[in-house]
Amino acid sequence: MKSVCLECKNELDLSAHSNLKQGDVVECQMCGITLQVMNIAEDGNVETEIVDEGK
Ligand SMILES: [Zn+2]
Repeated sequence: MKSVCLECKNELDLSAHSNLKQGDVVECQMCGITLQVMNIAEDGNVETEIVDEGK
C-alpha cells in the first residue's frame, strides 16, 4: 500500500502497515506530519487527510 503526503508530496510506503485500515494514522517520515487514513482503494492507493494535532 502506498500514499502521497499531502504536505510535502513525498511518496509514502505503507507496506509496513499490513493491518492498515480506515481511521488509522500514519506519519510522514519526510516532514513528520500526521495523516489519517480516509479510504483504501482496491489497488492499494491510500487516501489520507492531514490531522491537525493542535485542535
Ligand atoms: Zn510529508
